[in-house]
Amino acid sequence: MPDVALLALIVVAMLAGYLLGRRDLRKKNHSQSSGQALSKEYFVGLNYLLNEQTDEAIETFIKALDLNNDTVDTYLALGSLFARRGEVEKSIRVHQDLLARPSLTSSQSLRVQLELAKDFMQAGLLDRAEAMLADMARNNHEYRLEALQQLLKIYELEREWTKAVAVGEELRKTGADRYAVVLAHFYCEGALICLNRNDRVSARKAIRQAFTRDKNCVRASLLLARMEFDDGRYRDCIKALEKVAQQNSHYVPLTLELLEQAYGRLGNVRGFTAFLGRCLIERPGGAVILAMTKVLASDRGDEQALRFLTGQLGKNPSLKGLNALMTLQLRNPAVGSLQSIRLLKEMTDKMLELKPVYQCNSCGFSGKEMHWMCPGCHSWGAIAPVQGIEGE
Ligand SMILES: [Zn+2]
Repeated sequence: MPDVALLALIVVAMLAGYLLGRRDLRKKNHSQSSGQALSKEYFVGLNYLLNEQTDEAIETFIKALDLNNDTVDTYLALGSLFARRGEVEKSIRVHQDLLARPSLTSSQSLRVQLELAKDFMQAGLLDRAEAMLADMARNNHEYRLEALQQLLKIYELEREWTKAVAVGEELRKTGADRYAVVLAHFYCEGALICLNRNDRVSARKAIRQAFTRDKNCVRASLLLARMEFDDGRYRDCIKALEKVAQQNSHYVPLTLELLEQAYGRLGNVRGFTAFLGRCLIERPGGAVILAMTKVLASDRGDEQALRFLTGQLGKNPSLKGLNALMTLQLRNPAVGSLQSIRLLKEMTDKMLELKPVYQCNSCGFSGKEMHWMCPGCHSWGAIAPVQGIEGE
């Protein structure tokens, strides 16, 4: 019964706020009468709680709390407690009630507004959240940065890329470099929209803007390459794609298909193999090895391709490479099959060594040792030997 835990937390939070409030009253040498009024309402609220009338209890507690610097924090804690539990309507009530208090300082008011905007976001009331946050972001204050960050989340959710760009640029001005990379993606999203309505001039402009924010934006290079290819500018297409190897070599696999086509249109297969050769020296990977194997097979025949692939797989084993090797081997049973089998044996040995043997069907925990109680989720009898193609 999760509500019981929540109620207990509310009582504690309210009691803490109440006691803090009383301490403040004593400090200020006020009379005890308001403290006694508080305690009476506190017990009325407690009575509601015990009868599980949560809404009435909250109502009473909210009324009971004297508002001062300490109790604002208690309110905010209560609000975020509701928000975390998914009871966002209650969280909204708490925050709206706080905002209505005239005694809030402007800083406190801004903080409560921010929390309320987050409530609206959680409740899916994005328009209301956006209006509040946009208003907060207009002026300079201690919560402006966070308001901008929340606003950015909304525009990302709504895929409003023009507005996202505006907010992202504001955030970048505050000195956060990480927004440069994000902005490049927003410009790429904008470029895609331009391409969809066939506005190629604006699309190119958006891609250029992406590069001004992040010169290593792989996505912008890929978009540009696609445009150049479609415009019949194969040399420029190749230039954009080969740049990816310098920007971030992990993404080279995404370039190979179009690169092969562009070199093909120019009738320059050698150019493609030269590029693959350079990649193999700098950073060999499965995709490059497979592309080279394919070119070799059609250019110089299966035997050459088989020899190349066998040599590469010894240094850079991969499942896809092994699959290609078997295809070639089946097509040419007479050529070097013993070496292929040796390679296959070595690779499956390595894979079996790395594979977990036991897995928990409750939380997914896996390992090489059998446990009757899962170390991950503490379930009994949930771990069993892995079945299927990679299992027992
Ligand atoms: Zn488990």
